[in-house]
Order: sequence, then C-alpha cells, then structure tokens
Amino acid sequence: MRTRITEMLGIEHPVVQGGMQWVGFAELASAVSNAGGLGILTGLTQPTPEDLIKEIDRCRAMTDKPFAVNLTILPTIKPVPYEEYAQAIVDSGVKIVETAGRNPEPFLPLFKSAGITVIHKCTSIRHSLKAERIGCDMVSVDGFECAGHPGEDDVTNMILLPIAARRLKIPFLASGGLGDGRGLAAALAMGADGINMGTRFMVTKEAPIHEKVKQAMVEASELDTSLIYRTLRNTARVFKNSIAEQVIEIEGKPGETKFEDIQPLVAGVKGRELFDTGDLDKGIWSAGMVVGLIDDIPTVEELITRIVDEAEKIINERLGSAVSV
Ligand code: NAD
Repeated sequence: MRTRITEMLGIEHPVVQGGMQWVGFAELASAVSNAGGLGILTGLTQPTPEDLIKEIDRCRAMTDKPFAVNLTILPTIKPVPYEEYAQAIVDSGVKIVETAGRNPEPFLPLFKSAGITVIHKCTSIRHSLKAERIGCDMVSVDGFECAGHPGEDDVTNMILLPIAARRLKIPFLASGGLGDGRGLAAALAMGADGINMGTRFMVTKEAPIHEKVKQAMVEASELDTSLIYRTLRNTARVFKNSIAEQVIEIEGKPGETKFEDIQPLVAGVKGRELFDTGDLDKGIWSAGMVVGLIDDIPTVEELITRIVDEAEKIINERLGSAVSV
C-alpha cells in the first residue's frame, strides 16, 4: 500500500505504533520498524534524557529502518524536563517525532530546524487544524475509542475521520479502535493515510510486558475499559480492573476530587510494576476499546502482514465487487 504517509515516513506499510508509557522500548519499536511499519520509542519511559539517548542508540542497533520518538506533554506526578528530552531527540539524529498531550508549538522551531517530521496526536478537529496551522507535518486523529487520554469531547472516529478528511490538508493517521484489516480499510476509506495502533501492539510477542497482561487483553471484551480522571479533565481510558473501579468510586463521591486522593492508586510506577510482574490489580494500565477485537498474541510481523493482507483483500474483493456491475 502506498499513501502520503508511507511516502513521507519512508515506510512500507501505513501502520504506525503509538507511543505507550512503559511499553515503547527498543524491542517493540524496532520490531514494528523491521516489519515495515513505524516503531515509536516512548520518550518519558526513559527516566532521564541521557537514558533516552542510550535507548535511541539501542533501537538503532536493532533496526536500520526509520523509527520515531514520542514526547507526551500531560500532567505528571514528577516535573519533566521536556526541553531536555526534546534536545536529546534532536542530538540523537532521530528524524520523526510524535508529540501528544499539549500544543507542541514551543518545540517546533527546534524540531523543524533539525529537519524532523512532526506527527501531533490530537483528539479533536480544532486541535488538528491548529497543529496544521503551526507547521506540524501530519496529525494522528485519536478517537474516543482510544487508550490513554481521549480528551474531553467524546467524539468517535466515525465522525472525526471524515471531518478531518474534509478539513485538513496535511496527511493524517487514524488512531483509536484500530486493530485489524477491517479497521485499516475503513480508515483509508474515511480519508486517513494510515493507522496508529497502541493497544493492539501491546498484545504481541515482542511487547515487553508480562504474559498475564497480554492474556487479560485477549480475554477482554469491548466493554472492559474504564474512563478515569473525568472529574480532573484529564480523562484516561484504562483496562477495567479493581483499581480503575476504586478510582471511579472516589471520583463519584460528593465534592471536588483532588488528584492526591487517587495518586497512590494510579501512579505510573505502579503500572510499570504491573507490566513487570503480571499482578493485574497492582495499578492501572492504558487500554482501548479495541481489546474487544484482540484474540491472539502474534509476532509484530505476523500482525502487520495480516492486517495489510486483510485490508487489501477487503478493498480489492469485497468493496471492488460491491461496485462492479
Ligand atoms: P505519572 O505517574 O506522573 O501519573 C500517573 C497518571 O496520573 C498519568 O495519567 C497522569 O496524566 C496523571 N496525573 C498526574 N498528575 C496529575 C494531576 N495533577 N492531575 C491530573 N492527572 C494527573 O505518569 P506516568 O504513568 O509516568 O506517565 C508519564 C506521562 O505519560 C504522563 O504525561 C501520562 O499522562 C502519559 N501517558 C500517556 C498515555 C497515552 O495514552 N498517551 C498513556 C500513559 C501515560
């Protein structure tokens, strides 16, 4: 398949791996890039900018294909030196960055002067248009189905993608709810130039998380995600477990929720421990509604090949025969 995104990113398939905290290490990113997609290292998964430089070097030793780094700017428990992470990305010679969370404008002069292609992840059309206006090269349009932070508008990709196609000039990826060839074919039909998948890549052999976490997502249905932090306007879609339920219960109590009331339950370090040990109620972890579409643990290459083959078959056969007389 050839789209504006495969051309601009220099990749074989229009499939991009989303930035995922505690998952986007070199093992997964290089596997996605080696399979012809675009792998992404998660910047903040590395404790310091120096560690990020080492991780980029490690990834480079594992693939000679393009890969990117994600820089997410959202509230965090510990302050993050974002400028230093951005500089580390530039100094490492990475040529593609995925920004997410907040307006990436302050970082654009640095990235653009280094010749970096910037993909900004947006959960609304107004933010997508703004990203285009300030000079981002492409956007990743993230529907309400997505894992992690879907924003506060609650608009799904069936609506977001066609509006993005009507209004954006720059290419865009469909993100959220994507996990199979039907999704890829549908995303292309709705005007996207490719797909961005996070949760689906968590359930692959190469994803560096405990088997029990992967198995839980295989067994889950589309109803097994929860929305937390709604009261804080920092909504996150996470796997429905006892911790997510406790957070929602605390948020449901009368009066204003303070982040401190839930912090011990949701801290990222607990989520990391959960991924390492497979203790599914240790903390929270991001997961999208697409868990309902996941029922196996393939290698990254098997997954990407299957998705692209399935999409091509749908386009050539099912859709082709529907319009041929
Ligand atoms: P962390 O341990 O600092 O915080 C845990 C969670 O609490 C995060 O979701 C964070 O956004 C939220 N949070 C922290 N302080 C908050 C506050 N004052 N008010 C409201 N919410 C608050 O985070 P982490 O797990 O180490 O993750 C680091 C960064 O990566 C954060 O910005 C996080 O949001 C982001 N992240 C993004 C995704 C995604 O889907 N894009 C998924 C996981 C984490």
